[in-house]
Amino acid sequence: MRESWRTTGHALCPRCQVRMRERSIGGGSFGLGYARRREWLLCPSCRGSVLFDAARGTRT
Ligand SMILES: [Zn+2]
Repeated sequence: MRESWRTTGHALCPRCQVRMRERSIGGGSFGLGYARRREWLLCPSCRGSVLFDAARGTRT
C-alpha cells in the first residue's frame, strides 16, 4: 500500500479499495522534533485511518 502511494500519489484502503484522503502531518505538530514527513490517510468509506512515515526506507 505504501508503495502504491509513492508511485501513484494516493493509496487505496486495504479494506474497501477506496481511494483514501491524504493528510500531511508536520513534524512540529506531532512534537517529533525532527524533519520526518508523515502521512495520514483517511478512508471516507470505513472511516479507517492509516499513519505511516513517508520517508521511511529512503535513508537506508
Ligand atoms: Zn476503508
